[in-house]
Amino acid sequence: MKLTVLGCSGGIGSGRHTTCLMVDDDVLIDVGTGVTTLDFDALRRIDHVFLTHAHLDHILGLPLLLDSVGEQRASPVIVHALPEVLAVLEKHLFNWQLWPDFREIPSPDAPWLRFEALQYGQACELGARRFESLPVNHVVPACGYRVAVPAGSLVFSGDTTRSEAFVAALNAIPDLRHLIIETSFENALADVARASRHHWPESLAADLAGLACAPEIWITHLKPGNETAIMDELRAALPQSRLAALAQGQVLEISA
Ligand SMILES: [Zn+2]
Ligand SMILES: [Zn+2]
Repeated sequence: MKLTVLGCSGGIGSGRHTTCLMVDDDVLIDVGTGVTTLDFDALRRIDHVFLTHAHLDHILGLPLLLDSVGEQRASPVIVHALPEVLAVLEKHLFNWQLWPDFREIPSPDAPWLRFEALQYGQACELGARRFESLPVNHVVPACGYRVAVPAGSLVFSGDTTRSEAFVAALNAIPDLRHLIIETSFENALADVARASRHHWPESLAADLAGLACAPEIWITHLKPGNETAIMDELRAALPQSRLAALAQGQVLEISA
């Protein structure tokens, strides 16, 4: 299993793109502006999308992806997410006002888009890859994902602040190799982070103190302009951990 980072910033500007992770060449986790780095052939190969939540920085490429490739594909793009997230997309995005409902285009029998609800703890198997929805704690309904293959597991938190349920889910994974987890704000902005339910270095350190395993830790969703300050505070708060900032273009591989 190969995960390619197409976008991992908490914003845009100077080559930064928002969250979009590609698993092998046919699955996306979130569809932020990072999706725009793919060429047309690569866009056409995307069969499945797993969304962590409905915030714009994680979904804004989805309507344009469907519009660009729909007619060129033999099957619908399947969007997997919590039912609450799919309800938001239906009501506020694919509502024929902001964007057409591609679940009915060109016809309801052969659409370009299909929704598939995935509850916390449920998994979707695609070949040897298993995508499991994990509980997190964000300001809107949100989940993280475990991507498991026989050789090991990777977890992506999506957007979250402190979450006992998420840490418990991580501790239940015996073969956790990589943890991609967000830290959006530096410690001085802890109030903003609390209100918007994101992590700041001290909160991440507190949650990771409960971790029973020692995966490689990759920090994502750093707010533009504050990347260095946040990473410096994280290294000070977590001197023992193997952690680094996730980078656009980076590839994480799990193979036997
Ligand atoms: Zn969010
Ligand atoms: Zn976000």
